[in-house]
Amino acid sequence: MPQVSLRNIYKMYPNAKNSAPAVQDFNLEVEDGEFIVLVGPSGCGKSTTLRMIAGLESISKGEIYIDGKLINNLPPKDRDIAMVFQNYALYPNLSNFENMAFGLRLRKVEKYKINELVNAKARELEIDNLLERQPKDVSGGQRQRVALGRAIVREPKVFLMDEPLSNLDAKMRVQMRVEIMKLHQKLQATTIYVTHDQIEAMTMGHRIVIMNGGIVQQVATPEEIYNKPANRFIGSFIGSPPMNFIFGRLEAGSGGQLYFSNSHMYLPFPRERVTKEIEKYIDADIVGGIRPEALSLRGSISTERKPNEFYAEVDVSELVGADRYVYLNINQRNRETLVARVPAKERYESGSRVIGRADMEFFHLFDVNTEQRIE
Ligand code: ADP
Repeated sequence: MPQVSLRNIYKMYPNAKNSAPAVQDFNLEVEDGEFIVLVGPSGCGKSTTLRMIAGLESISKGEIYIDGKLINNLPPKDRDIAMVFQNYALYPNLSNFENMAFGLRLRKVEKYKINELVNAKARELEIDNLLERQPKDVSGGQRQRVALGRAIVREPKVFLMDEPLSNLDAKMRVQMRVEIMKLHQKLQATTIYVTHDQIEAMTMGHRIVIMNGGIVQQVATPEEIYNKPANRFIGSFIGSPPMNFIFGRLEAGSGGQLYFSNSHMYLPFPRERVTKEIEKYIDADIVGGIRPEALSLRGSISTERKPNEFYAEVDVSELVGADRYVYLNINQRNRETLVARVPAKERYESGSRVIGRADMEFFHLFDVNTEQRIE
């Protein structure tokens, strides 16, 4: 039995500026012990969804179950969940100890048991020497540990985390990301984690739920999301630099070989990936998609061009540590450039002519109108 089950969830805010629901027809089955990440741009409905699970926001339509029990009308304190917020939401005038103990006191847990639990969890989080201080007297990372500690002392069925690392600096964010994963491995508690950061989503989630405009775009493992994005939005949102999109047509050559074609390219599409669905697009406009690391370059244009190659002009290139991002101009209709991610040691002058090579195994096809991935 999935531990958290969201069925056809909608949220319409009564005072909303536009008529579109903040969350539409959201469906998700979260398994016991799973770490699920909700990710998407600002305003896509992530927090609203989490707050509905927590009981901090009413549900306009649909049902939420925890352990098979309908919780739509259950007050937050009876849902057996703990929430960790971006701004920590700690009581400034209480010590870190009292902040961690707060939920236990409310539940009338015995005093000796509270001491035992708070101290044990504080040791786990390496904040046991900070318990007498107040939140304002410790660093941001430590404050977030206190907030995590407050959540875990209660040993709830489900953890909800809303951008818990957003207020930390980059280095601390990476460190806390690892800590949260270690904590999850140890506690194996079902966790639903909200972030706008694709790196957090890709590194932390067993499965990722990508949202846009209140609508779930794809629910899948990080690998699947990266390698088989359901649509163009996901190809752009996940991956840095984003997936390249190229406008062209699908053409049939001799022997049934299909080609992605435009004025600069005539790329053979792998035969083993051709489906009935793809064949419907023969002689029709189509959008090709390829990630920057699936494009490679060579400087010399005197040699013959191979079938999966195309001519391009280097616009600019950026050195990013071990990689170089080379922006290529191929006079696309929409004036977009292509980006190739190549080893840093390869240098290409701005304005020089190069040959690009597409690794066709990683070439995708998208519908021009619906923007859905065809293959
Ligand atoms: P996210 O967490 O993905 O940034 P939110 O869930 O906060 O997105 O918001 C989703 C949409 O709902 C946004 O358009 C936002 O403006 C709207 N919204 C959020 N809270 C309220 C509210 N209390 N009243 C009206 N509209 C709201």
